[in-house]
Amino acid sequence: MSETLVIRSTRVALPGGVREAAVLVRDNRIEAIADYGAQLGATADVDLGECALLPGLVDTHVHVNEPGRTEWEGFGCATRAALAGGVTTICDMPLNSIPVTTSVAALRAKVAAAAGQCAVDVAFWGGAVPGNLGDMGPLLDAGVLGFKCFLVDSGIAEFAPLSRDELRTAMKALADSGAPMIVHAEDPGEVRAPSGPDYEAFVASRPTVAERRAIETVVGAAAASGARAHIVHLAAGDCAALVGAAKAAGVLLSAETCPHYLFFCAEEVPAGHTEFKCCPPVRYAANREALWRALEAGVIDGVVSDHSPCSPVLKDLTGGDFRTAWGGIASLQIGLSAVWTVARRRGHSLADVARWMCSFPAELAGLPSKGRIAVGCDADLVAFDADASFTVRGAELLHRHPVTPYEGRTLTGRVTRVWLRGIPVSADGPARGRLLRRGGGDIG
Ligand SMILES: [Zn+2]
Repeated sequence: MSETLVIRSTRVALPGGVREAAVLVRDNRIEAIADYGAQLGATADVDLGECALLPGLVDTHVHVNEPGRTEWEGFGCATRAALAGGVTTICDMPLNSIPVTTSVAALRAKVAAAAGQCAVDVAFWGGAVPGNLGDMGPLLDAGVLGFKCFLVDSGIAEFAPLSRDELRTAMKALADSGAPMIVHAEDPGEVRAPSGPDYEAFVASRPTVAERRAIETVVGAAAASGARAHIVHLAAGDCAALVGAAKAAGVLLSAETCPHYLFFCAEEVPAGHTEFKCCPPVRYAANREALWRALEAGVIDGVVSDHSPCSPVLKDLTGGDFRTAWGGIASLQIGLSAVWTVARRRGHSLADVARWMCSFPAELAGLPSKGRIAVGCDADLVAFDADASFTVRGAELLHRHPVTPYEGRTLTGRVTRVWLRGIPVSADGPARGRLLRRGGGDIG
């Protein structure tokens, strides 16, 4: 008879809500969900009491940057940071690694780089760029989750944006597979050079209308192709009506936003603090409120990190010039706490957070055994002390670099234990993560 584990908590985040329960694990999977006090005769029995039990987070938007820019981040440290933050599956973006993941050979190079050093499970997005239409089918066969594309300059020369026609053609090629096209939606015609080095000029250079025009392009391509589109890092709250209307009209469309758009606002970005730079930018407080309302209305489906570190030099922390600093915010380890800090204040439950950060991203990524505490799912589980608080110190995080706009912020909710497929894991323990293909098998 195989070994079994039961984990009990008075606050288990189940798909239908938070309740007392006991989760029985056998052979890496959730075998049953029983009453809190049920006698289950398990080999090991863990009672978390009032400490909550969540599904492991699935973060579908992580830039690991290895191989090629491993000095920015890497599979070893990124996955250890993920584990410490309750993220048990990450989906790696096809840039800013070298090579970018736009061919099967590049995917093989990335899988080889990741092999043996991942503390959590890792899956991979492919890239859609001008000229690689013929690579898309082979990349899907090789196991990518779907494709990421840009409509605006990505900052990486070999990852060029798609035109409107190229987007439609690429999405037509995808339609039969069911895999999504995930889109960085800013329209280059509405983005201009900032008029000065300060944050206000940077925000003004990437207005909400840039997101709006790009989303209109994506909606048109999704409607014409029948393929599924997903808007990454939606930052313009005034685009919610557009996204909602497209969904209501039957267009296969979903949208994510990120912890930093829900947590920060432009009014509080200190002068010269380029660690707040990302694209699209963190906008003003009224916009943040609109994003929360869109999330609460289900127009925005999920919240993922867009963890996108770079070397501290590129962040231009001493010059403080928002025109030249690299854009990207590292938050893989603290996204759950950042979101929970605000969500709790707004009256949300951990079941809402689990829907935004676990089950929706798992569905987007085509990983049906992830993201839910449900019978048959992988026993990726996180003990989360939802009432604890801590102050962020970048130097204590496991990201490659300590740069974070959350420095000194006090957050609510702390990950205390993590199980990966039923095995207790820790950031300083063996690397037990698997490399996954769409559907959930090993990409090998
Ligand atoms: Zn990104």
